[in-house]
Amino acid sequence: MVPANQAHVTLRVIDVVHRPPPHETGYRDSELKWAMSRSSALVVVSAVTMAGERTRSGRIAMTIVIVGGGHAAGQAAASLRQEKYEGEILVIGEEPHIPYQRPPLSKQYLSGEYGLDRVHLRPARFYESKDIRVRSGVRVESIDPDRRRVACSDGAEIGYDKLLLATGARPRRLAAPGGDLPGIHYLRTIADVDAIREDFQPGRRIVIVGGGYIGLEVAAIATKAGLLVTVLEMEDRILKRVTTPTMSAFYEDIHTGQGVEIRTEMRAESFAGSDRLSGVVCAGGEVLPADLAVVGIGIQPNVELAEAAGLECNNGIVVDEFTRTDDPNIFAAGDCTNHPNPVFGRRLRLESVPNAMEQSRVCAANLAGNPKTYANVPWFWSDQYDLKLQMVGFSTEAERQVERGDPTTRRFAVFYFDGDILTAADAVNSAREFMVARQLVGKRVDSGKLADPGVDLRAVLQAAT
Ligand SMILES: Cc1cc2nc3c(=O)[nH]c(=O)nc-3n(C[C@H](O)[C@H](O)[C@H](O)COP(=O)(O)OP(=O)(O)OC[C@H]3O[C@@H](n4cnc5c(N)ncnc54)[C@H](O)[C@@H]3O)c2cc1C
Repeated sequence: MVPANQAHVTLRVIDVVHRPPPHETGYRDSELKWAMSRSSALVVVSAVTMAGERTRSGRIAMTIVIVGGGHAAGQAAASLRQEKYEGEILVIGEEPHIPYQRPPLSKQYLSGEYGLDRVHLRPARFYESKDIRVRSGVRVESIDPDRRRVACSDGAEIGYDKLLLATGARPRRLAAPGGDLPGIHYLRTIADVDAIREDFQPGRRIVIVGGGYIGLEVAAIATKAGLLVTVLEMEDRILKRVTTPTMSAFYEDIHTGQGVEIRTEMRAESFAGSDRLSGVVCAGGEVLPADLAVVGIGIQPNVELAEAAGLECNNGIVVDEFTRTDDPNIFAAGDCTNHPNPVFGRRLRLESVPNAMEQSRVCAANLAGNPKTYANVPWFWSDQYDLKLQMVGFSTEAERQVERGDPTTRRFAVFYFDGDILTAADAVNSAREFMVARQLVGKRVDSGKLADPGVDLRAVLQAAT
């Protein structure tokens, strides 16, 4: 029987399925616009198939399932539409949010300057308007590559034609006695920051374990919020993993000038406290009193889902320049990937927004049938106080460096070379120098002219070979 309020719609039977419920038939509940029981059969009148299965009417509906809820997942979904892909897109993310960006978490969201709306990559209405379905709060538990199906934490089994893994990464945990005490935080998600903010009271003592970008960004916000901040770094300088002594020294001066205590060559061994954190115990026995701690000691890629599906993983999900895994129907993008970089001639696993965005764009183009390869020069940024640091390439591997500008003015750039070839740059409050450096990486550049603020950057760029 046709419901009275829908009687004006013309019926068009496109398929007959004998075994409801919908998720078993390959149809989505919401898409079962017209269905009538006729003996044991369900007559589907207007539906979009899942799993790219051929309906009896002969139609093939391609479905792309994206696993993840971060930058890579959100960008891939949007880029698929930009690439004119018209099939189904389903984004499945385990966090209870629409896709969001993480950089503000240690910056404007931690300080309270941004609300959630500015953390979301795009508003919810964007996904509706582009016919992109987002299932938040649902974890993909497993992949069956042979049947091209994923099993979800809510019991659903969902078919795909192509699957994109954008599972990102999670914080590396500090395996130390007392590590589960309340007051000890990690920082990767909105929920993590909400918890930190509850503990973020002026006058409280915060110990930040790890002097990398995230730790230092938290230090900057915490000191501005009136907390007493100590940064513990086990290496002999902060930022050692990612930049040169010049930049480490600059940032150490900036932070100490703001009242942050930086303790290098200090390893956190355990956490003190009975029902809540009271201090961080360092190797050697010194106890640093602490009301809260934030641990930022790196991340590890979320590869378990891929590994269990038999995909090659090696410090990330191994993909080729088209972002394909070793299963032709499964792609991966973002922090979770180990990918080839032709500019540097080796494989990389990157932890940055530009990588997540660009790799997702490339992936979307390939999924939409517009072949494209990923060949970007890695870059990254960090905001601390009034300083915007923009980095391109890998400065730690350079043979020599030149500076342009004066660090005491808080506006300068350091350019790094292998012979005459520019390989990397760090630019502080110097957007122009950074933009030029991005174009110069891999080129032969006159370092003397680059170091001379009197020489126009355009001239340096034009002369580069
Ligand atoms: C606090 C912070 C500050 C940062 N600041 C900067 C910055 O200033 N500049 C910069 O370039 N980069 C910055 N980064 C790094 C940048 O945010 C990451 O490189 C980027 O988030 C990577 O995006 P992604 O989508 O690959 O992974 P993620 O953002 O990690 O997203 C992956 C998502 O997948 C979900 N997921 C994983 N497994 C499953 C599953 N099985 N089922 C369903 N969902 C799953 C996860 O819950 C997560 O939501 C920062 C990161 C953090 C944490």
